[in-house]
Amino acid sequence: MSDAPEIRLSPGPGPGPGPGLHLREADLWLDPRRPQHRAFVSHAHADHVARHQRILCSPVTAHLLQTRYRIARERLCIQEFHECRNWQGFLCTLLPAGHIAGSAMLHIVDETSGASLLYTGDYKLRSSRSIESASWKTADTLIMESTFGLPRYVLPSASAIESQLCDFVKESMAGAHTPILLGYSLGKAQEIAAILAAHHIPFVNTASVAQMTEACRAAGLALPAASAWHEEIPHGHALIAPPQFLRHKDFSRIPRPRTAMLTGWALHPSARFRYGVDAAIPLSDHADFPDLLRTAEIVQPRRIITVHGSTRELAASLRARNFNAWSHFGDDQLELFADFP
Ligand SMILES: [Zn+2]
Repeated sequence: MSDAPEIRLSPGPGPGPGPGLHLREADLWLDPRRPQHRAFVSHAHADHVARHQRILCSPVTAHLLQTRYRIARERLCIQEFHECRNWQGFLCTLLPAGHIAGSAMLHIVDETSGASLLYTGDYKLRSSRSIESASWKTADTLIMESTFGLPRYVLPSASAIESQLCDFVKESMAGAHTPILLGYSLGKAQEIAAILAAHHIPFVNTASVAQMTEACRAAGLALPAASAWHEEIPHGHALIAPPQFLRHKDFSRIPRPRTAMLTGWALHPSARFRYGVDAAIPLSDHADFPDLLRTAEIVQPRRIITVHGSTRELAASLRARNFNAWSHFGDDQLELFADFP
């Protein structure tokens, strides 16, 4: 082990749902689930949001926190991507994480010792049609998510996934079915919309998806305007809906529905049955296993801490590749598919 300076972590509140990481000297929490006095919030998915007293976040996340979660403007410390600010002796830079609109990684450098740390939050390496791609800085310590931290999770190419999506829509329409594309209303729904638009496939959205897309547009994202579905789905259109739409009363009003879930978990053979859908298509907003390994190559850290997901397995795979990698929750019993929603 090296005795080079490092940015130290306090133990979080426990494994629980989501990481609880505290940078001790900077006194800054990273995506804590419980309200804290000062926290970095990487993005506006509900499992990363709590009512902290002070929140460091990107401008788009700030907009979504205010409009979606009614978090007061005066709690927000808004910082542009790539801008560097001094936070009590620590130089903080937010980098795009490529996960959803506004998602950020945090790069932090101890001004005194020069030690650096990169916290990824949720991220992906591959590019999107709807958001900015991730960008990187090297760091001594890398704290990385492990959602798809098992070797079996290898996504097909982006073009193969888009083909699956377009084929599903076209085959459904050819069979006089209504294609319903299911994905989280923040992030996945906008990516589905961007893919459909690129392939000239018309679509409408449920009200909740349309509201979220409009919130992203209002925050400055270049997305197609979101038309909401009211009475009937126009002929030749797909419907973009959140996963819970399958249990909504409006679902039963749709003639001859054919459903597809858009999720990285579609890589699991049982996904279609587990979600109760006609198809599962592996469109993900997380890094797959090869990209998790590639992240370590890019960042070149002296130590890696894995959080959220298959932390122990990913750390072991990284150690097998000569990285000093350990799970933040190393003593926990791993439950396979604990995060399988
Ligand atoms: Zn997320």
